[in-house]
Amino acid sequence: MKKKGILSTCIILAIAIAFAAIAGNSFYQKRHFVEDIVTEGTNVTEVFKLSRYNKNLKGTVGDTKVYVIKGEEDGGSALVLGGTHGNEPAGHMAAIIMLEQLKVTKGTLYIIPSINASGLTHNDPLEGSPQYMHFTTPSGEQRVFHYGSRATNPIDQWPDPDIYTHTSGQSLSGSETRNLNRCYPGIKYGTLSEQVAYAVTKMINTEKIDMEIDLHESSPEYAVNNAIVAHERAMDVAVGAKVELEDREIGMRLEPSPVKLHGLTHRELGDFTDTYALLLEVGNPSQGRFRGYTDEKLVLTGEDPCYVKGYELGLLYVDYSSGNFPLSLRVARHITTIDELIASYNNTLDDDGRAIQVENWPDYEEMVNTDDLGLYLK
Ligand SMILES: [Zn+2]
Repeated sequence: MKKKGILSTCIILAIAIAFAAIAGNSFYQKRHFVEDIVTEGTNVTEVFKLSRYNKNLKGTVGDTKVYVIKGEEDGGSALVLGGTHGNEPAGHMAAIIMLEQLKVTKGTLYIIPSINASGLTHNDPLEGSPQYMHFTTPSGEQRVFHYGSRATNPIDQWPDPDIYTHTSGQSLSGSETRNLNRCYPGIKYGTLSEQVAYAVTKMINTEKIDMEIDLHESSPEYAVNNAIVAHERAMDVAVGAKVELEDREIGMRLEPSPVKLHGLTHRELGDFTDTYALLLEVGNPSQGRFRGYTDEKLVLTGEDPCYVKGYELGLLYVDYSSGNFPLSLRVARHITTIDELIASYNNTLDDDGRAIQVENWPDYEEMVNTDDLGLYLK
């Protein structure tokens, strides 16, 4: 009887060790997977690390790459942030496609595709999310990118406090301390998330960046969806873009940045720098609470019968009559909105000394209809 007990204990222990080894290997691979972002054959003029603006980031996973596309003619500048929330892949992919495709003739574009690089190295617990996204380029090469978490990896920032107190005095639940978009304007010697936020604020002030656009996605049942969220100083720029987008039958709501909601880019970068601070949201069924089985296919197609039902019941803030919301559509919305924001910004200038001229924008209709982002990757 005793022998039998020891045997079954050993079997259970062996199974547990096997599961732990498989999971551990998976976590290890995800943690160390480096995305291959191509600069060869692109118009990128410089790549540097974010620690240029906060030396404390040196040697940490938060020391992410900044890609610069500088035009031959001097002009204004814009900063695009992708990957603030790793579980919102449209912003991450839009930033990568922009840096691999766009050409600047006047002014400078700064693109950071993985602004919370730590958040991309893991997944949100208990969400069943995929770890990666796969695309095939026109030359037949497979490119693989992270699907990550909303929050900084606890390996890099732990433990969370019971209550997260922002520098403004605002209190949030403890886990929000690892939400980069609650950490602006940042703290030089703070947590990793605060140090990253500080570097962005410092970068905008140092480089005198005229416009900053932070790319996000949100659940279709969330009210701020397919929206441009604008700091009050950036409202004219946002209105101009919205009018042009409407003309192209691309509906984007306009949301003023709440004055008392602290830590977010559209509030703090607008308050603590002279930049026009803007944030874009597009609807993403793969991160919503109604969603069913969550795999890479759902992330890429946004096709979910649960959301079809939700739409029929009038519970969504987006038009889900198509029954899908593909990543190509979500990325096309981001990129085209940035195109219109830059055009609108140029229109607000008294003279074109600080204008930004960008070429090679992917065509909106084409990107939506081809439904294959691999075609826009090098
Ligand atoms: Zn977000």
